[in-house]
Amino acid sequence: MPHPSATALTPRACPVCDSTDSSPVLTKGAMTLTRCIGCRMVFQNPLLPEFRTGDYYEGDGAQFYLSPDKLRSDHAPVRYEREVRLLRRYCAGGRILDVGCGTGGFLHQLRQRYGAAYTPVGNDIAGAAVDHAESLGLQIHRGSLAELAAEPPFDVLTFWAVMEHLPNPQAFVQEASRLLRPGGIFLALTPNYRSLAVRLLGGRYRYILPQHVNYFTRETLEAVLTRSGHFRTVGIHSTHFNPLVIARDFRGHGALVPDTQRAQLLARTNAWKQDARLKPLRWIYSLLERALGRFQLADNVVVAVQRI
Ligand SMILES: [Zn+2]
Repeated sequence: MPHPSATALTPRACPVCDSTDSSPVLTKGAMTLTRCIGCRMVFQNPLLPEFRTGDYYEGDGAQFYLSPDKLRSDHAPVRYEREVRLLRRYCAGGRILDVGCGTGGFLHQLRQRYGAAYTPVGNDIAGAAVDHAESLGLQIHRGSLAELAAEPPFDVLTFWAVMEHLPNPQAFVQEASRLLRPGGIFLALTPNYRSLAVRLLGGRYRYILPQHVNYFTRETLEAVLTRSGHFRTVGIHSTHFNPLVIARDFRGHGALVPDTQRAQLLARTNAWKQDARLKPLRWIYSLLERALGRFQLADNVVVAVQRI
């Protein structure tokens, strides 16, 4: 029997505004989401013990990053095309730090497309995934962001699908402000809690899952990034749309979708995106994605801020 304190669930303050006043909005399995009365942020509360620290990503979660489907999907040319486009919009070159770089899919693609325009550095705690990134010749800093030297400072920081995993996102924003030069850009992408998918599916949506401890909207993501006063907002976007996930989860019963199955579906989606026969369909799809994006209803929300 584990010691009771090891498994006890402690209440969690709002990760955006620190208020302790929140009310439940949704339960799924052992997980409860609550909404902050003050800033409307939705977050896992209490935190499940395995996601309080980064241990999950060194243990059970680690092998997932190296599964063939996950690797194929992370390194498909279409996988990071939106992220690369966003980056180009704000920063045409320089020293870039990709936090939560995993197997290095984004940085690898950036280097392949733009060569020496960027000096890429990755950061992650997931050991096995980082081995893969290093095998691609990428410079990776293993371990916590706090241990990373700020000299020379970075021109741009990217957090692709990282903020939703962090029990204390404010601490990471603080580190980001330390690592960036004045005028430097910080891009954060997270699932959008106000997306069409969440509106249609609620708790049945596969991306409402224990690893995701924060559920941002454009307002709450902007709030957590700018609260410290080190950053000012320069852009808000909503990107990505996966109708296959919506169709699949619509028929599902809200059970947690195992990592392997999520990776399988993503790998298949990427294969379809590259299939020449589906070109006319893709045109409709990209129109739809753009329309959803305009109304902030696409799957993800991205906030770009600049270091003051
Ligand atoms: Zn709050």
